[in-house]
Amino acid sequence: MRVLVTGGASGIGRAVAEAFAAQGDEVVVGDLTPPPGGLPMDVTDPGSVARALDAAGPLDVLVSNAGVVGGGGPLTDLPLEVFDHAVAVNLRGAFIVLQAAARRMIAAGTAGAIVTVSSIGARQPTAGLGHYEATKAGLDALTRTAALELAPHGIRVNGVAPGPVHTPLTAGLMADPVARAAWESRIPLRRIATTDDVTPLVLFLASPAARHLTGTVVPVDGGQLLT
Ligand code: NAD
Repeated sequence: MRVLVTGGASGIGRAVAEAFAAQGDEVVVGDLTPPPGGLPMDVTDPGSVARALDAAGPLDVLVSNAGVVGGGGPLTDLPLEVFDHAVAVNLRGAFIVLQAAARRMIAAGTAGAIVTVSSIGARQPTAGLGHYEATKAGLDALTRTAALELAPHGIRVNGVAPGPVHTPLTAGLMADPVARAAWESRIPLRRIATTDDVTPLVLFLASPAARHLTGTVVPVDGGQLLT
């Protein structure tokens, strides 16, 4: 399979790219700051996305992972720029990538798979992260509609919704013992995830084994949504 991972230079995306490569797939990483051999790609810029997808060639799998938190705080204090940036990358950017990749899959007659990287925050609020959570709830809606509309083309669209994961995105938070303990206390399995906890689900959803799954967003959260 030929796989594109957006935001694949770091964290979850990087681990996902490595996991596909380890099972023998051809992997292309698109990122603002791509690794050697990767493609420069700003998901907020349709021209940049089109250039990267053209350079990537025909895809079987898209993992739409690029995302930011970009700050936080109570909604009453949140700077509009923080909200706008999260929307631009996590929701509008994911739409730009999904639309461009799906159009190419349809044109090529590829019964491909798309996996979006959401968050349990789409379903469970945490004070201070409202802007981010709103973008992920929007992404979940986009995932479901895309699944419905692309099903006639044999293209499946699903998402993964991690709870907190150790990545550069969360490194600052996890370095604070009090904040880390607060997160851990919300997780029934009492552990912050590693990227290796998330990658098997992404690989499964992209694989033929998941041939009858579409429009689902699967939590991988140590049970946090139960609480
Ligand atoms: P990360 O910061 O380690 O990696 C994000 C990557 O996205 C970076 O390589 C960055 O350069 C890239 N990126 C940012 N803006 C971009 C843009 N405009 N165009 C292209 N690439 C861009 O973060 P992560 O923790 O690995 O997060 C990956 C995804 O997982 C995000 O969508 C995030 O919302 C989601 N997620 C993370 C966690 C967590 O706890 N880490 C939990 C749930 C969901």
